[in-house]
Amino acid sequence: ELHEKVQNLKGNIRVLCRVRPPVAHEYDRSLCNINYVDEATIELRNRENHKSEFIFDQVFPPEASQMELFEDMAGLVQSALDGYNVCVFAYGQTGSGKTYTMQGGQTDSTVGIIPRSMDLLFASIKKLKKVGWEYTVEVSFLEIYNETIRDLLENHPKHHEIRYNEGKGVTVTNLKIQPIASVQEFHELMETAWKYRAVASTNFNEQFSRSHAVTKIYINGVNNESKLVYRGSLNLIDLAGSESAKTSSNERLQETKNINRSLSALGTVILALSNKDNHIPFRNSKLTYLLQSSLGGNSKTMMVVNISPLDENYGETMNSLRFAFKVK
Ligand code: ADP
Ligand code: MG
Repeated sequence: ELHEKVQNLKGNIRVLCRVRPPVAHEYDRSLCNINYVDEATIELRNRENHKSEFIFDQVFPPEASQMELFEDMAGLVQSALDGYNVCVFAYGQTGSGKTYTMQGGQTDSTVGIIPRSMDLLFASIKKLKKVGWEYTVEVSFLEIYNETIRDLLENHPKHHEIRYNEGKGVTVTNLKIQPIASVQEFHELMETAWKYRAVASTNFNEQFSRSHAVTKIYINGVNNESKLVYRGSLNLIDLAGSESAKTSSNERLQETKNINRSLSALGTVILALSNKDNHIPFRNSKLTYLLQSSLGGNSKTMMVVNISPLDENYGETMNSLRFAFKVK
């Protein structure tokens, strides 16, 4: 019963913490002293053995599989079919596992949240068709780099603005929104999107981690008999690296400031929403303005805070945990 009350208080925002395993070239590095107290509690000790404890909705240790992580997400795909706007964020410093969490690897067991969501979405649509529901699905891919929006399905750069309209909610001018009829079509478009993203960046890895990548799935369902209409969406967001200005070079300082400002705006908005504040400061960044309709109102949000296991990242890890804990 107490558990239920806690659930209610949390409302529609879930915060998960995931610690990635060390990768091959890190095997000789020293690791953080992390203790997985229970399924929701993570405890870190610094070199002076000072202990910090954080409680989330769930904590995933390095050995947790992509499938286990997705178990938490599966219900959100159903919510999007039921007309909710769903936002899923991967948060963390560069190298903490955000892209792995969202995209994942190439094999069936390593694919991440985005491909798993699309598989489940189309499988569910097929089932719902048998009981009288017709769904249409569309997709857009964009990135926000230095507070500028870029359409990842557009070969030639265009100017994009975010508009708000009472009826339609938030829209982006000139943004390509493509209908898709299968998972296969989704993957083809996603490949194009990632190719354009790579072409535009001077340093492949660097800009990749300096922009927020937003994959948006627009889901419209109509019931053949009742003519009931559901309009939902899935917003799947690989956030820019959260590392502080201290660790980035001078020429990147403005960029880092913009990133930190937008991540902190996101934290403030999520906190204001869970507190049910009257005024939600959506307009403080492009990211929160873009997601205004999807974060407020009929919405569900999940944030995965990605953590590096390395001792050298202890400071950034603590920053990420504090950010996520505040949001929760
Ligand atoms: P980010 O997107 O936050 O910069 P990445 O997702 O690129 O970080 O992860 C950094 C490295 O760690 C990559 O080589 C990735 O494949 C690997 N990695 C991340 N998370 C996991 C995981 N849970 N299991 C195995 N390898 C992982
Ligand atoms: Mg990445």
